[in-house]
Amino acid sequence: MKQVFNFCAGPAMLPREVMRKAQNDLIDWNNTGCSVMEMSHRSHEFVELANHAEQTFRRLLNIPENYRVLFMHGGGRGQFSAVPLNLLGAHHAADYAVTGSWSQAAAQEANKFCQQVNIATEIKDNDGIKSVAATQDWQISESSAYLHLCNNETVDGIKLKSIPKTSIPIVADMSSCILSEQIDITDYGLIYAGAQKNIGPSGLTIVIVREDLLGQSRPDTPSIQDYTLTAAKESMFNTPPTFAWYLAGLVFDWLEQSGGVSTISEVNQRKSALLYDAIDQSSFYRNSIHLDNRSLMNIPFQLANPALDKLFLQKAEEHGLVALAGHRSVGGMRASIYNAMPIEGVQALVDFMKLFEKENA
Ligand SMILES: *Cc1c(COP(=O)(O)O)cnc(C)c1O
Repeated sequence: MKQVFNFCAGPAMLPREVMRKAQNDLIDWNNTGCSVMEMSHRSHEFVELANHAEQTFRRLLNIPENYRVLFMHGGGRGQFSAVPLNLLGAHHAADYAVTGSWSQAAAQEANKFCQQVNIATEIKDNDGIKSVAATQDWQISESSAYLHLCNNETVDGIKLKSIPKTSIPIVADMSSCILSEQIDITDYGLIYAGAQKNIGPSGLTIVIVREDLLGQSRPDTPSIQDYTLTAAKESMFNTPPTFAWYLAGLVFDWLEQSGGVSTISEVNQRKSALLYDAIDQSSFYRNSIHLDNRSLMNIPFQLANPALDKLFLQKAEEHGLVALAGHRSVGGMRASIYNAMPIEGVQALVDFMKLFEKENA
C-alpha cells in the first residue's frame, strides 16, 4: 500500500490506528452484524456510543458541568449564522476580531443578522509581517452580545497568543486548533469546531456552550441551528451525522490513550518548532507571520523564488509529501500539521526542503 504524509488543511489526515479500527469495524460493528452507518441513531447501541464519545471529549478538555456539548451539522460556516441567531438575544450588536480570512467570513455572515457588527481588531501588516494587536488594544463594546474570535486562522497560519479579558461572552471558532493544546473552557461562553481538521471526518460540528447562554435564540432560528432545541434533544432532534460522530469517538479514544491534550500539545510544539526552524535558518524559504502569532497547526511558507513553486510541489509529491499547496488566496505552500500528523512526517518534510534547496538554490 502506498503510504504518504498528507498535509491537507481539511479534510485532513486521521490517525492511522483509528482508520485501521474503522476498517475493521466497517461492516460488522460491535458484533451487531451491521455497520454503524446502518444503525438507528436512537438504538441503544448508538446512544451508548454517542455518550461515550461525549464523555471522552469532556475529559480531554476538562469541560465543566455547566457547559453542554452539542453534535451538530453544517460545519464551521453553519456556526457563522448559528452564533448570532442564538446569542444576540435582546442585543443589536456583536463584536468580531478580524485576524484572518475565517474570522473575516464570520463577521461578514454576522452582518446578515446583527444591526451592527463592531470590528474589535484587524490584522496588522508591518512591512509584510502580519500580526495581531495586543488584546488590551482591542475595541470591545461591553454592550455587545458577544465577542467572536478565531484562535487559529487556518488559511493565514495565524494564532492568537491570548484572548482578552471582557465581561461579554467570548465565542471562539476553534475549527483548526481544538484539542491541540490545553485551554480553560471557562474563559469562553461558546466554542465551536467543524470536525474535519482535528476531530474526524467532515459533516460533524461540535459546539461547547455555557448553559446560561441557551434559551435566547431568535424565534425564526432554523430548528437544526437552534442550540436550545439541540441541547434539549441531546443532539438528536434530527438524524445526526452518525458515522462522523462514531469516528470522532475513535479519535477521542486514540487521543486519550496517547496521553491526552497535554501530551499532544508538547508534540505539537516540537513539530512546529522543527518546521519553523528549518524555514528561519534558510534564506530560500520564509514565513511572514510575527513570532508571537505563528500557528502550531497551519504553517504557510513561501519560496524566495516563486517560479520554483510548481517544481517544489511536484518533487514533494514524488517524495510522498502531499497537499502542500498554499490556500488559493495566499499562494506558496502550507503545511497543516494537526494532531494526527506524526513528527516523522514533519521530519520528512524538513529533510525534503533541505534537499530541494541544495538542488535548486
Ligand atoms: C475550515 C474552517 C472553517 C469552515 O469550515 P466548514 O466546515 O467548511 O464550514 C471555519 N473556520 C475555521 C477556522 C476553519 O478552519
